[in-house]
Amino acid sequence: MKANLAALPWMDAKTKDGAFAKLAKMTYQIGYPNAWKTYAFAIDAHAYAKNALAAVATEHARQLGKIGKPVDKDDWQMTASTVNAYYDPSLNGMVFPAGILQPPFFNPDASVAVNLGGMGMVVGHELTHGFDDQGAQYDGDGNLKTWWASETAAKFKAKTQCVVDQYNAYEAVPGVKLNGANTQGENIADIGGVKLAYRAYHALRAGQAPIEAEGFTEDQTFFLGFGQAWCAKVRPDLAKLLATVDVHSPPEWRVNGALSATPEFAEAFHCKAGAKLRPATTCQVW
Ligand SMILES: [Zn+2]
Repeated sequence: MKANLAALPWMDAKTKDGAFAKLAKMTYQIGYPNAWKTYAFAIDAHAYAKNALAAVATEHARQLGKIGKPVDKDDWQMTASTVNAYYDPSLNGMVFPAGILQPPFFNPDASVAVNLGGMGMVVGHELTHGFDDQGAQYDGDGNLKTWWASETAAKFKAKTQCVVDQYNAYEAVPGVKLNGANTQGENIADIGGVKLAYRAYHALRAGQAPIEAEGFTEDQTFFLGFGQAWCAKVRPDLAKLLATVDVHSPPEWRVNGALSATPEFAEAFHCKAGAKLRPATTCQVW
């Protein structure tokens, strides 16, 4: 990300300094939290609803108890077993629970290319969230404070609009278009994530002989690892609902949308100009 920021053509030097400062303060936690939560409420083996209400009441009281106290940076929003990850703009920190550190995202027996296509993409995605349409409004200390020169902010806005327009054209199911505005932060992170992961994979493998696997080049296996990370099966009714409420694009477009903005993919698979995943113009934000 640092090397990528340095080479960004559309950002002025002062705003770049702000971005570097934010990046330098970004933290990450992996696996499980430094301090475990306690769940101090009675569980009744025969009363599901009662347990659920007690859990909600306990969590509500715990959240209210934070008022007026220093920020607890070890308080995770997910459990260690969750297969997910997040970036918190008000902490400027990323969290990668142990649950996501398994196939198809990460496999100790898989190649660097495949692991970077999966877990590397997730890390790049969360990192890019620090600089998406919302994250970019926070500084390195997690405060809503701008570090953007106004001219550069206008260029950023135009670039994010390109992503909005790109995804507005996609369909969740026939006749139901995606909402490019609602999903823009996630789409920016998806595009940035695969770009950063691809570069990290190349940096890690620099100077080593490429590994071919089952007839695929190493670059191709990176993109296959990326695609497999989002393998999913969704019924049309749910896909229709999610298109209106989910801030993420459907899995198909998390892959094909991001790869349409990744020229390295078109090169790896020899896609001709004008092919489905090689459009004439691509949206490059980060
Ligand atoms: Zn995200």
